[in-house]
Amino acid sequence: MRYNVHMNTQEILKTLAELYPDAKPALHFSSPYELLVAVILSAQCTDERVNKVTAVLFAEHNTPSSMLQLSAQELERYIYSCGFYRNKAAHILSASRDIMEKYGGEVPSTLEELQTLAGVGRKTANVVYSVAFGGDAIAVDTHVFRVANRLGLAEGKTPEAVERGLMQAIPQNLWSASHHYLIWHGRRVCHSQRPACGECALAPLCKYRKQHP
Ligand code: SF4
Repeated sequence: MRYNVHMNTQEILKTLAELYPDAKPALHFSSPYELLVAVILSAQCTDERVNKVTAVLFAEHNTPSSMLQLSAQELERYIYSCGFYRNKAAHILSASRDIMEKYGGEVPSTLEELQTLAGVGRKTANVVYSVAFGGDAIAVDTHVFRVANRLGLAEGKTPEAVERGLMQAIPQNLWSASHHYLIWHGRRVCHSQRPACGECALAPLCKYRKQHP
């Protein structure tokens, strides 16, 4: 029988909601600006590590104006353990500069404006828009990309293609929740190297599992 993603989408989302009723971001933040910085730091880094770094950084610098008091080298020393610290420091400082110069010191609340900030890519903008401002968005990180492709929820070779596919497959009011569901499922069950298909509640609905029984 031909695999039909539309028949399965509702069931997959229902199961994910039952599995992860409390799915929410693991990053610690207390303002849109803190979230923006934490998301920039989280690229290729665990949320646990980011939380340790931001606990120290935000105690002293948690607004764009105070962040801009740091030189790139000073900021790099705070965030060194997150990896890719040179790029991340440059992105944090350039985004902070844009927030001060273009948006009066406040992180903008629309997806379009967030994407105008230097150093802020589409994924980061989506997360901030959805988590800090309650907008409907699906940020496609490595977990969302992998799990969406495996399940057959949205297939694509690029994060942008998967984002478009998910937005078509999932009702808009569930975009943000689905983003968290897919991340949690990727971390806990559908691992990159050895997905735990034998223990996965989604196995009967999963395209990858059907192809790799
Ligand atoms: S059945 Fe396997 S591949 Fe499919 S979602 Fe579950 S863990 Fe991932």
